[in-house]
Amino acid sequence: MTLPNAIGLMMVLTFCQSAALHAAGNDAYAEARAQLVEEIEDHVRATSDYLERDALDERVLQAIGSVPRHEFVPPDVRPRAYDNRPLPIGYGQTISQPYIVAIMTDLMDLQPGDRALEIGTGSGYQAAILAALIDAVYSIEIIAPLGEAAAGRLQRLGFDNVEVRIGDGYYGWEEQAPFDAIVVTAAASHIPPPLLKQLKPGGRMIIPVGSRFLTQQLLLVRKQSDGEIVTRQILPVAFVPFTGGH
Ligand code: SAH
Repeated sequence: MTLPNAIGLMMVLTFCQSAALHAAGNDAYAEARAQLVEEIEDHVRATSDYLERDALDERVLQAIGSVPRHEFVPPDVRPRAYDNRPLPIGYGQTISQPYIVAIMTDLMDLQPGDRALEIGTGSGYQAAILAALIDAVYSIEIIAPLGEAAAGRLQRLGFDNVEVRIGDGYYGWEEQAPFDAIVVTAAASHIPPPLLKQLKPGGRMIIPVGSRFLTQQLLLVRKQSDGEIVTRQILPVAFVPFTGGH
């Protein structure tokens, strides 16, 4: 065998090996993810009166069907990564139920060129779902080790259109404002005024508002083109509390 051929063969082998590894990684969970998407579709039909829609945008379902949720949970809960449930991610926090992630994302009616702000990065999963749909995602996490781990994970998985910052999300991210969409994933006692201010006219926010340890109402907030704020209650939810100065 001549030298160039040997190098060629090595390259082919390396390619085959990595393609096989990649396929195995996907296959192990692909069925579970497809099953999860079906469960979410059923759940959406059952709650269509609340949502005022009986199906989600195909792109949102595709994002849930492709983002590897098992990469966003600690190893001990990985076998349950595709259950339609919230799961513990450490520091007393949880990765949200996939149905909730799906409806919150869907209600944002995102367009590819949109810019979104998320409050409560947690594992980074909701940020990844948003990043699969739009150009730019900014996410703020108040617990530094969670935010740092999420940022590293998102980068490793190739979500390079997400920027994570450690801080109190109550104040939003002024330097990157205004946003087309703001997704708040911790329960607040009220809608933070700085977030309303950082929403574009025509922009939308989804936020659980209510008592910290009981259930809250998921609110869809719209800033109309004249600046007027219109809110609609979607459904009762249970999120971990918004912490920080408020
Ligand atoms: N979106 C996350 C779910 C996170 S749970 C995911 O997909 O995994 C809510 C997160 O909000 C927690 O990590 C919590 O630390 C964070 N949080 C609570 N109050 C906050 C605040 N004031 N600013 C930023 N993050 C906050």
